[in-house]
Amino acid sequence: MKRCPSCEGTYASVEETCPVCGYQPRRINGIAAYAPDLALDADGFKPEYFEQLARLEAGNFWFKGRNRLILWAMRTFCHRQQSFLEVGCGTGFVLSAVVEQNPETDAMGSELFVDGLKIAAERVPSASFIQMDAREIPYVAEFDVVGAFDVIEHIEEDEIVLAQLHQALRKGGKLLLTVPQHKLLWSQADVYACHKRRYSAKELHHKVRAAGFEIERTTSFVTTLLPAMVVSRLMGKKSSAEDFDETKELELPSWMNAVFYAMLRFELALIRLGIGLPVGGTRMLVARKP
Ligand SMILES: [Zn+2]
Repeated sequence: MKRCPSCEGTYASVEETCPVCGYQPRRINGIAAYAPDLALDADGFKPEYFEQLARLEAGNFWFKGRNRLILWAMRTFCHRQQSFLEVGCGTGFVLSAVVEQNPETDAMGSELFVDGLKIAAERVPSASFIQMDAREIPYVAEFDVVGAFDVIEHIEEDEIVLAQLHQALRKGGKLLLTVPQHKLLWSQADVYACHKRRYSAKELHHKVRAAGFEIERTTSFVTTLLPAMVVSRLMGKKSSAEDFDETKELELPSWMNAVFYAMLRFELALIRLGIGLPVGGTRMLVARKP
């Protein structure tokens, strides 16, 4: 069901107009915009970052490794899903892989910034897209699976977002999350990316449960690369936010990129065996709406 952002009434998802109050989302570049006032705002993400990101992510070990982890979690914990919503789909790099693995699933990508959506819509033509604020998702009990991959750390009101993700899911639906982990790793990279926080496992688990979820699987990821991350971030601490070059972390010599990718694939092999990695730059969590 859709939830009207104007009168809070609920109505059938196929309807474009709210039958109670007549509300209709504005369209930006042909995409329904539920939070048009924020579509070009930059508090939380730098819109120009999307073009840079789209260029870098396809070959980068971290994005490729995270995709493998997400696709594995989906195959393992989400059976026969008919609908999938990705919140904060950025340039559609994850969504395109999800659609490739699950061609039968109705996939929807959402994003606050229209710049990302434009790239995503070209990349994943079979998916549908909406512009929205994750703090006010215009759906209720609609999706079998909802994913937010490195998204909620950008938002001050992360607990509201988790409650909204819960509301958007059907009963028994699954939540897939990835977040940056360990406050000790906080650096200019987080400042540049407009992160509000890095999570501890305890904080994330507490907030996810408080939103009404049951946690099914939780693990760290990017464990083997922690020493490299610590060195890179200690060096980065010397520079200020202005001259921080975040592409340095993504643009590696190709041999190093290949080695790092092999290490992430090794970590995924451990996770598949049921091993929960205790520390790592990222935390991945699967939860269920009871
Ligand atoms: Zn309405």
